[in-house]
Amino acid sequence: MEKGQISVQTENIFPIIKKFLYSDQEIFLRELVSNAVDASSKLQTLTSKGEFKGEIGDLIIDIHLDEKNKTLTISDRGIGMSESEVKKYLNQVAFSSAEDFLKKYKDDANIIGHFGLGFYSAFMVADKVEVVTKSYKKSAKSVRWICDGDPQYEIGAGDRKDRGTDIILHISEDSEEFLDKARIQTLLDKYCKFLPVQIRFGTKTETEWQGEGEDRTSIETEVDNFINNTNPIWKKKPAKLKEEDYKAFYNELYPYSQPPLFWIHLNIDFPFNLTGILYFPKLNNSIEVQKNKIQLYSNQVYVTDNVSEIVPEFLTLLHGVIDSPDIPLNVSRSYLQADSNVKKITSYITKKVAEKLGKLFKKDREAYQEKWSEIGTFVKYGMISEEKFNDKAIKFALVKNLEDQYFTMEEYKEKIKATQTDKHDKVICLYTTNPSEHHSYIQSAKNYGYDVLLFDHVIDNHFMQHLEQKGGDVTFVRVDSDTPDNLVQKDETKESVLSEKEQEKVKTLFTESLGENSGHLELKALSPTDHPVVITKPEFMRRMKEMQSMQGMDMGMMPESHNVVVNTNHPLIAERLMKMKGADKKASFVKYLYDLARLNQNMLKGEDMSKFIQRSLEFVG
Ligand code: ADP
Repeated sequence: MEKGQISVQTENIFPIIKKFLYSDQEIFLRELVSNAVDASSKLQTLTSKGEFKGEIGDLIIDIHLDEKNKTLTISDRGIGMSESEVKKYLNQVAFSSAEDFLKKYKDDANIIGHFGLGFYSAFMVADKVEVVTKSYKKSAKSVRWICDGDPQYEIGAGDRKDRGTDIILHISEDSEEFLDKARIQTLLDKYCKFLPVQIRFGTKTETEWQGEGEDRTSIETEVDNFINNTNPIWKKKPAKLKEEDYKAFYNELYPYSQPPLFWIHLNIDFPFNLTGILYFPKLNNSIEVQKNKIQLYSNQVYVTDNVSEIVPEFLTLLHGVIDSPDIPLNVSRSYLQADSNVKKITSYITKKVAEKLGKLFKKDREAYQEKWSEIGTFVKYGMISEEKFNDKAIKFALVKNLEDQYFTMEEYKEKIKATQTDKHDKVICLYTTNPSEHHSYIQSAKNYGYDVLLFDHVIDNHFMQHLEQKGGDVTFVRVDSDTPDNLVQKDETKESVLSEKEQEKVKTLFTESLGENSGHLELKALSPTDHPVVITKPEFMRRMKEMQSMQGMDMGMMPESHNVVVNTNHPLIAERLMKMKGADKKASFVKYLYDLARLNQNMLKGEDMSKFIQRSLEFVG
């Protein structure tokens, strides 16, 4: 054996390699198997170019675990290396690329997939690495290279009979977890599931049952334990695939999940290469959205399931795979976001998702509407967070009214324009966040011929605001934000049946009976069929407050604000109260009407509620 020394610039790289990315040591297997795949693919390329004329045979990559001798071996039948190539590639190329990588990222473990460490990642788990290789070239001799984790290496004659490379890892004591068969199987399943060259990890027993009942017998057979599907569906032409194929693949990725709602097959060559399939999962109305379900691959090699830098946030609830060799992987995550290719990829994915939704909407609106409760949140979130998505989605984003009818904003404006345009020419959309709580307000609005939308998801608050900002000509107001006559402000003055003087009297009665903190008092000439007292929560103030509490700000800064509107045309005010004798009686009557209004706004709680019930019982009795 000849001895040599790897030229070391960094003081000593091996201890660093060992410690580096401690939690992600497992990537060594991906790096080494990827190298084996590369060597095999290169041979295929040489064959197709006519530069290699020998038999190619099968190119199966074997992973062999020897628990007794504490070795893990990765063997390929690829191009192999000659002695000079070993010296060049392992001592120089592999070493210097690992060294570069470590120099750059020693203090930053936040690197996408930790790509770039390559061959030397073997030293994260092995204290000695042996390479036995034989080049595909005619009359090449087998070479053995051994390095035990310091810059010295040995090189000499090897004993490999046929073309290819064995990487033999002598697993170090503190990495013995990698001598566990189940652990290796898991790693291979994770990183190598879709590699383009067959990977075999020993054998497995397959059990076949025959016969029925007591005669039932099993036959066990030893079969090769193949790891990967070399031709995954996302690499195929969409035209060649059926619905079942997509569903089957989804099931393969996420066993036991419900079938997806729909999917998008990504397939682009230029200006970057990207393939993949994104599925829209069934959310079952859960708010708990499962993120980190998109797997990122690079040429069928698994990289990560954290794609937050590549996929816009609102799309991270999609499932599936993205495969792109054009995403730079040996860079830190923060760099990735600024990368121009990544930016293009992000907007391509966004565009594709928008197109797909648009198509579904056009093709079968019924079916689309049925799915709306599941995709709505996602679309709304997308519109709020991505300008480009918004511009497309405005054509297929839906609002739903209390009659369960769906509209695009354009359609909805058309529907309500005639009745719900205010004096400033704004279209006023009425909504409720809770139909049962707002029941009587909704009834009042409907009596005025108004339509009411259902906005009952947390995101709807933001969504409304977004539509107001974008649209310019719509305003959203909650059904309880004003009295029904004034929800859509039309500047019509109504006559009160009471004279000015009588109205003054009513006002004084209310202020004196209710005291300071009961809300802003206002007299209005509503319809006699509207309630005698109505509590309204002005839209703007309420939204501000909601915003504050959502941001966890101090609620004390902005007191609960509501208006107490007294309907001077209601018979209980205009007649009963006016004719009533006795100050106490009048005061308790006023309080009672006020409490009824509070009850209707769900504001009557605790002691107030008990008192109210007590008073009601007295009235009844
Ligand atoms: P990279 O694969 O990124 O070039 P590596 O450090 O993983 O970097 O490997 C360095 C070089 O060593 C490779 O480019 C290749 O030429 C050679 N090499 C590594 N593994 C094998 C293998 N199994 N068969 C043939 N050549 C290999």
